[in-house]
Amino acid sequence: MNIEVKQGDIANQPDITAIVNAANAQLKTGGGVAGAIHRAAGPGLEEECRKYAPINPGEAVITEAHKLPNEYVIHCLGPVYGVDHPEPTLLANCYRNALKLVEEHKIDSVAFPAISTGAFGYPLEQATDVAVSVLNEVGTDLASLKKLRFVLFSQTDLDVYQKKLNPLINRLK
Ligand code: ADP
Repeated sequence: MNIEVKQGDIANQPDITAIVNAANAQLKTGGGVAGAIHRAAGPGLEEECRKYAPINPGEAVITEAHKLPNEYVIHCLGPVYGVDHPEPTLLANCYRNALKLVEEHKIDSVAFPAISTGAFGYPLEQATDVAVSVLNEVGTDLASLKKLRFVLFSQTDLDVYQKKLNPLINRLK
């Protein structure tokens, strides 16, 4: 499996099979990642999501991608920092459950945003540690997955991810 880190918009990853949404409990459009994804997907996504809502922190559900250039959207509800406890476990569950859906659907490429680090207030460095720890835990030889991409909005967030993921990326070379 190839792991990469890119700056950009999670709603504009046309070479990726499944993108991950930093969803809200109602699986509706909103600000940040959820807004970008639902705007690009069109109203059909919210309609499809209705039957799965609400979800709990740490849970993930998979839908079609509608007008997005992908095949699937995996919606994860991250913990609200300082409210949903224990935050590291709930955030790790997002990554674990998303990867479980990736395997179940034999998905070959997936892109994650930095779940919970926007409106939900999770400090980026700590959230990055959680993402890296899940990758170390599940291993990098998942059956179907060939490419895992983290998409960061800002250069400073990208720098943090790069620094923390480099040991793992170098080990895979
Ligand atoms: P949450 O509610 O889980 O905190 P947000 O969408 O508010 O989710 O933010 C999660 C992270 O995604 C933040 O670091 C934010 O800067 C970043 N972000 C916001 N919009 C986008 C986008 N279109 N593509 C990628 N990352 C984004």
